[in-house]
Amino acid sequence: MKTTKHNPPRLSSPITLIDGIGPKKAEAFSHLGVHTLEDMFYFLPRRYEDRRTPKPLDSLTRGEYECAYGVVSEIGADYDKTRAIITNNSGSAEVIWFSDKIASFLREGMRLALYGKIDERSIVPRFVHPEFEILKPNSTPTIIGKVFPIYPATADLNQRTIRKFVDSALDSFSEECLKDFLPRRVLNRYGMMSLREAILQLHNPSDERTFIRARNRLAFDEFYLLQAGVIMRRSLYSSQLKAKPLKPGEKFRTFMDTLPFTLTDAQRAAGYEVLEDMDRDIPMNRLLQGDVGSGKTIVAVIAVLAACDSGAQAAFMAPTEILAAQHYITLRKTLEPLGLNVALLTGSLRTSERRRILEGLSIGSVDAVVGTHALFSGSVEFANLGLAIVDEQHRFGVLQRGALAAKGQAPHLLAMTATPIPRTLIMSVYGGLGVSVLNELPPGRKEIHTISLIPPEAPKVYAMILERVKKGEQVYWVCPLIDDSERDLASVSSVYARLRNILPDLTISMLHGRMSVDEKSRVMQSFAEGKIDLLVATVVIEVGVDVPNATMIVIQDAGQYGLAQLHQLRGRVGRGEAQSLCVLLENAGITPVGRERVGAMVKCSDGFELAEQDLRARGPGEVCGTHQHGVTDFRVADLVRDEKILRLAKKEAEELLREDPNLDSEPLLKREILRRLGEVLELAATS
Ligand code: ADP
Ligand code: MG
Repeated sequence: MKTTKHNPPRLSSPITLIDGIGPKKAEAFSHLGVHTLEDMFYFLPRRYEDRRTPKPLDSLTRGEYECAYGVVSEIGADYDKTRAIITNNSGSAEVIWFSDKIASFLREGMRLALYGKIDERSIVPRFVHPEFEILKPNSTPTIIGKVFPIYPATADLNQRTIRKFVDSALDSFSEECLKDFLPRRVLNRYGMMSLREAILQLHNPSDERTFIRARNRLAFDEFYLLQAGVIMRRSLYSSQLKAKPLKPGEKFRTFMDTLPFTLTDAQRAAGYEVLEDMDRDIPMNRLLQGDVGSGKTIVAVIAVLAACDSGAQAAFMAPTEILAAQHYITLRKTLEPLGLNVALLTGSLRTSERRRILEGLSIGSVDAVVGTHALFSGSVEFANLGLAIVDEQHRFGVLQRGALAAKGQAPHLLAMTATPIPRTLIMSVYGGLGVSVLNELPPGRKEIHTISLIPPEAPKVYAMILERVKKGEQVYWVCPLIDDSERDLASVSSVYARLRNILPDLTISMLHGRMSVDEKSRVMQSFAEGKIDLLVATVVIEVGVDVPNATMIVIQDAGQYGLAQLHQLRGRVGRGEAQSLCVLLENAGITPVGRERVGAMVKCSDGFELAEQDLRARGPGEVCGTHQHGVTDFRVADLVRDEKILRLAKKEAEELLREDPNLDSEPLLKREILRRLGEVLELAATS
């Protein structure tokens, strides 16, 4: 016994507490992600085998996995095989093992339990290399008689070993470690199984109905804890932090009066929601969701103007330097005529310039600053940060908000995303967030025409490019690599060289991540000014880049990209009134998954629909960039399938926290939230 009264086992205890697990087994388990008792309890079987009912030997189904009892009546070994005949009162069957060793310990008259596949073609029923167990008189079999969990195994850990240790962990420690943290009334209201019972069922299901109840209970746990955590975080922020209300004034009105176009209804509504939020002493926490090209930037500019009109500073964060530079240009064009001072702060500034900007921010002479994540690094101080905007929020992961919010007393926060986040995700991860949606494109936009072609059809593409350029329009060509490599994928450098040969009359340039920031912005600037006809680029242009005169994009090796990414790339065109075109060039080695994505792109231009598909195909972590934080890394729950459970969990969590915001009546629940989510939700302060 390795634990004592003073040192009781906990969920976080290492699995070496389990009898028989030493450093070597622990190492083997660590390759499966199992380090602690908790990991062991929640170590999910990949699937289950139903071995509850042994079959009479005369009714074994060919091609199926079956279990049965029988007495050995004949044994033989030839080369590397063992053959046996087993019989019982319902008939007989043949058994083959692909090893001659088995013959050496089988004897006629032995009683066996067997589980394995029945040969599809054999005339006599035949088990092919089954699991088996020699039964002693009066002993109960261990390999049949129940539903068996099948775990992800490794070369060092087979099913039997894993099962043995999981069972041993459950036997020795589950009682003490698995205390139910759900409030009594939730358990009662839904007639829920206890936590320990649910975990036991996960590993040793008694029947399908009970198993589903167990699974649902565990899925509920995950949603419930997350929802409660998100609500706690929200109240933590709003009770501790008072924001300065910000109102639009003179500058805002001047801007609106000189706007060269009319806002869409959706932009107007979103702008109104943002201004309403900002006019409160509770910090705004709003997500602006709108498909590529829907015109989110204007809504952000409206927020910036309200901040400046109220004498507060605004910070505008973009995920790439290219995008930061573009927003900088937009903001300068808008704000400088109004007498405001705009700065650009990126990681690649010269020291002197950086120092000048930092000083401007700290004394308040800079009114609005645009930048990459460098904007919120330790050395940046603001005199009076009233508004923080995060563009293309999904690229940052949800949770950098804390670092950012810490920069001002309590700045209002506007996050924008062009990758529409499916509704279920918003409900769970962004539980405490207001959401505005731009569900229409500015007037006159035509749906982007999307086609897929194979490499031999490339000459057609050259003709299309020429046609576009003749009309004065511009084209992007996107490749997965910068230089050629042994991977059979297109590179910017070789495509650039080839296109210059094939299309000698065009002005062609390259853009990729290995170029210096200055070079990149020079190229982007010339492209924006229409001086470049064709830009061969990597995915550095993926998000946000806005050149309305670009009307065609070729995405080479399209199967390489995720669906969300393809949609983002396609969104670089269709930003003006001309009919735009997206050409997806497949490559000979395209995977089935890649082909499916290409097909989805051709069929569908709605980012929301594509995002839902992406969520189904890839899991939520990758879609919204939270993967490394694990917020949506559910063990049991499934955001797509378990939407109903999610709703219930949300409702229950809201109800509970309304009555008891600090969870004083539920210390176990509170502890569990902090234990599982404290760090990622930045909740430690409440413990
Ligand atoms: P996104 O939502 O992808 O960030 P942008 O804000 O970059 O979109 O806007 C895309 C383009 O549409 C920009 O060139 C912008 O000036 C233009 N635009 C935005 N709103 C309107 C509008 N109401 N009418 C016409 N053009 C608009
Ligand atoms: Mg944008």
